[in-house]
Amino acid sequence: MHIRFPLSAVLLGLVLLPEAAWPQIQPRRSREPTVPPPSITEYQPRSTLVVPEHPVPRARFPVVDLHGHPPTLDNPETIEAVVSAMDELNLQVMVQARGSQGDRLRRQIEAVRESGHEDRFVFFTTLDLRNVGPGSGARIAAQLEADVQAGAVGIGEISKGFGLFSTKADGTRLALDDPELDIVWETAGRLGIPVFIHTGDPAEFFEPHDLRNERWLEMAIFPNRQLNDRSRLPAFDELMAERDRMIEKHPNTTWVVAHMSWYTNDLARLGELFDRFPNVHGELGAVLYDLGRQPRFARAFFEKYSDRILFGKDSFQPQEYPYYWRVFETEDEYFDYYRDYHAFWKLYGMGLSDDVLRAIYYENALRIIPGMPEEGFPASR
Ligand SMILES: [Zn+2]
Repeated sequence: MHIRFPLSAVLLGLVLLPEAAWPQIQPRRSREPTVPPPSITEYQPRSTLVVPEHPVPRARFPVVDLHGHPPTLDNPETIEAVVSAMDELNLQVMVQARGSQGDRLRRQIEAVRESGHEDRFVFFTTLDLRNVGPGSGARIAAQLEADVQAGAVGIGEISKGFGLFSTKADGTRLALDDPELDIVWETAGRLGIPVFIHTGDPAEFFEPHDLRNERWLEMAIFPNRQLNDRSRLPAFDELMAERDRMIEKHPNTTWVVAHMSWYTNDLARLGELFDRFPNVHGELGAVLYDLGRQPRFARAFFEKYSDRILFGKDSFQPQEYPYYWRVFETEDEYFDYYRDYHAFWKLYGMGLSDDVLRAIYYENALRIIPGMPEEGFPASR
């Protein structure tokens, strides 16, 4: 038998797997192809659409990247290389959100000072959330105080491991709302620094890996992104409810939920989160594929919540930033996204106003992060 890989292999899997493992897939096409269909990786039609294009290599206003993951900034060569990439893109300040605390954090702060680029980087500290048990909260809070003393201006990125994989000293899963950590979040509130936290992953990763799953291809390429084993992991909604209980206990702490809480496919839900907690903000990293497929609804959302949304990119690939500028600043239509396994659809520009752009690019960051360099930003309006 001639097997076309991988689609036929998948179909074969459908036949061999117990019926209950797959939901009923109804053919959605009115007519079936008369030749064997290509696989989803083979089929790459070129668009024949001709429309105006407005690439945006540099952001219109100076930007703070709240979700920076540059390499460790502990030597002049790396710092210079990152700064010149930032200059091209109009990134004025990058938050180093890569996990570092204690000496590793101090070394970077020191190296950036010595490089003369002190006005281009700020540092968040991370928390050691391994083996939390009685007394851990006070120990973590003390480390936090020391790191803030050394120059850190926020906590984060707290990784998705917290809530999914981190375990307590007794071996059980560390819940996001574990009371042992209350003192840590209270300390952040008292110090006036934001807590930047990544919880979960796109909701589809928590769903069965079947042919109705919007992220089927990504989950097939990266099987470890599948979080659908309910015997081991909480469901997406359970995790978010746990996160919300943690936030609810700490109304005086400023929270920034990474990746807009993975609610960008349901912005009304994100609006409810913002409405419920005035101390919660959303960060834009790695969710452009959702915003760019609903440019009008997303623009209305950004207008309504312009003071709650902050730019962040996540992985530091300088060539990817201009896709963000283009979606935010233009009304271009039907253009490619930079990760073909995130999204098999095209993007559209949201055409955000200058007021909204300034808010999400830098104003909100200057407001919620203490001690931000003000050099390089337009004087406040
Ligand atoms: Zn990150």
